[in-house]
Amino acid sequence: MAFIEAIDISKRFNGKPGRETQAVLDLNLTVREKEFISIVGPSGCGKSTFLLMLSGLEKPTSGHITLDGVFVEGPDPQQAVVFQDYVLFPWKTVKGNITFGPKLRGVDHKVSEKISYRYIDLMGLTGFEDRYPHELSGGMQQRVAIARALANDPKVLLMDEPFGSLDALTREVMQMELLKIWRADRCTVLFVTHSINEAVFLSDRVVVMTKRPGRIKTVVDINLDRPRTQDMQLSDQFKNYEMTLKRMVWEEV
Ligand code: ADP
Repeated sequence: MAFIEAIDISKRFNGKPGRETQAVLDLNLTVREKEFISIVGPSGCGKSTFLLMLSGLEKPTSGHITLDGVFVEGPDPQQAVVFQDYVLFPWKTVKGNITFGPKLRGVDHKVSEKISYRYIDLMGLTGFEDRYPHELSGGMQQRVAIARALANDPKVLLMDEPFGSLDALTREVMQMELLKIWRADRCTVLFVTHSINEAVFLSDRVVVMTKRPGRIKTVVDINLDRPRTQDMQLSDQFKNYEMTLKRMVWEEV
């Protein structure tokens, strides 16, 4: 059953004459509910543009996107977006950032506090509830950004290179945390990454985009057991997925 459907979507950015960019062209993708999908492809192929169109923040020039059978025509509280540059409210504490969404939706104070403590716990932020963003490391700020997105109980989590600016070890820890939360909450995740290793490790399916104008080149099923463990990365099966996907992306560079 299709949960998200992108049908023949194209996106053209109009610049000065001769400087228009056809970012995405006739792209089709069907996503099932609660799937974890990663999107990879060469730099500038339209991955972020595709994600922004899914979120409703950018409108396709042609084609359409549906979420649970309804046309996506603008941002929707059922969808949460996490970008590489964690945009937190600097004047709010960790807890204040996380409860912001629920409070905005009119959720009772006590309930939003409860929600925030659940994600503070799940994201390993206990003890930092009353800190301000500038008092936290990059990794911790990104945890807060993810907790803030999840506190809105989204059906879809759209993530654009969320771990791109983290050091290698923090990135691995965050991947495990994200999988833990995904197992507990099971929302549908679309995850843009430059890292083939990350895509294989996290996903049920990896979507490879062609060079610009981006369309879907292929979709690879990742038949690794869950829960995923670091050790799996040493298996031949994992390495085969990585090599296959690398070749596919290299062909587009
Ligand atoms: P990726 O995420 O795969 O690196 P992007 O989706 O960011 O690729 O960009 C795809 C193409 O669209 C690039 O050539 C980029 O310069 C262009 N582009 C993206 N956003 C805009 C914009 N707002 N205005 C004009 N061109 C844009």
